[in-house]
Amino acid sequence: MSFNRVFRIVVALLVLLVGVNITNAQKLTEEKLDAMAAKYALQSFPMLKDLLSIPNDAIYPEDIEKNIKWCEKAFGDRDFTTTRIETSTVPLLLAERKVKKPKKTVLIYLQIDGQPVDTSRWFQKDPYIPALKMKTVEGEWKEMDWSKIENYDDDWRVFARSTSDAKGPAAMFLAAIDAIDDNKISPNFDMKVIMDFEEELGSPRLPQAVIDNKELLKSDMLVIFDGPMHITNKPTLVFGARGIATIQLTTYGPIAPQHSGHYGNYAPNPAFRLSQILASMKDDDGRVTIPGYYDGITIDAQTEKILRAVPDDEKEIQDRLQIGSTDKVGRFYQESIQYPSLNIRGMQSGWINEKARTIVPDWARAELDLRLVLESDPERLVSLVKKHIEGLGYYVTKDTPTKEERMSHEKVASFTYEISYQSFRTDYNTEIGIWLKEALKNAYGADPIMERMAGGSIPISPFVTTLDIPAVSVPTVNRDNNQHSPNENIRLGNYRDGIKTMIAILGQKL
Ligand SMILES: [Zn+2]
Repeated sequence: MSFNRVFRIVVALLVLLVGVNITNAQKLTEEKLDAMAAKYALQSFPMLKDLLSIPNDAIYPEDIEKNIKWCEKAFGDRDFTTTRIETSTVPLLLAERKVKKPKKTVLIYLQIDGQPVDTSRWFQKDPYIPALKMKTVEGEWKEMDWSKIENYDDDWRVFARSTSDAKGPAAMFLAAIDAIDDNKISPNFDMKVIMDFEEELGSPRLPQAVIDNKELLKSDMLVIFDGPMHITNKPTLVFGARGIATIQLTTYGPIAPQHSGHYGNYAPNPAFRLSQILASMKDDDGRVTIPGYYDGITIDAQTEKILRAVPDDEKEIQDRLQIGSTDKVGRFYQESIQYPSLNIRGMQSGWINEKARTIVPDWARAELDLRLVLESDPERLVSLVKKHIEGLGYYVTKDTPTKEERMSHEKVASFTYEISYQSFRTDYNTEIGIWLKEALKNAYGADPIMERMAGGSIPISPFVTTLDIPAVSVPTVNRDNNQHSPNENIRLGNYRDGIKTMIAILGQKL
């Protein structure tokens, strides 16, 4: 026996004696992760295609049932036990997998339902028949035979509803599970995967379901595999998201539309009244003027540093949106989304275009949305808006006003609102933050881009509040994916790197 061999045996014995976990010693290098991701991306394309082929608009429960069954089988095949968490409509699905000596329990959020589709506006036969496409030199997306995917280019894309939002990430996760299982990489944490089938409806039944199943969902932290990466398409972690509330505001004129010649200058115009109300809520720089609206939010020097570290190109953002100026709520993009917003998302009164007519309309309506942040209580913000309208001399009712109400008040408006869910925000220096940052650093050789809070909303606060756990999003998809619109897609390079990211996280010790 050579000295070398004896030496190796001694080392092996020592390793056993001190109980060093062998898998721990085999650190997942960037090269190994790349090789695994490449292999399992290729291997999982048929699965991705299969999943995307199931219609998933949540207003059709019979379609959602097919998606639930698919997920039950996919997770069951991978040694997860699945439980349906029933609600008054479609269930949530929980898939659990335990390890021998878990350090922690990690809750993982996946979204399986998708936005409605308008097939006529998709440049393919059917949004539920995935199309593989490449961009021609003329800049057109050209459909190719699926067999070509064996030799895919990173910039090719798969077009179908939910490719990016968010069946793509669900398929990546399953592929990553296959990769760690085949390579005998065992996470040192238990996994609870919660699948939402009503996310695009605003997850209306999620908060109560979490309250009712607190014990079942008990975990130490939450990882969300959803959302697009930073515009630079570099590895990104998102530590929070704004919440959302909506308001419907209606003003009233005469009981029916009146001839604007006969009654112009006499019957008050509800569209003008609505415009005056709305205009009185903001200054010329887009800041809400209602006293107290931004109370409680301060961006200190440390926070500003965190926000400025995101490599946004303000010029590029403005160029892309074709806006010659920005609102001045914040001094730059990241800062602007740390505040609650007050947005008019739609307005209606009378008729326009070829239907325009010379009338004093009978009513005018605005739909508003308020993106919420942690510091501002949503009920308080909504009531500030309502009090502001009352302060302008309006009698504010919940329902359509009666004749008596119309006759006895000079100005009448109706006001209804809904708080969907609150915001969440996790500190960078938490166990989950450090763990995910290390995993991504290991996978890509550089610190990820860290976003304090995303502007958009995800229904995560019920978990954060009820289970009292921190949450971080790991976005993987390309930002230009046409999410919610026709021709939604995922870039294949993002799909493969998403698998790499997830393998890196699953292999990173907590
Ligand atoms: Zn969505």
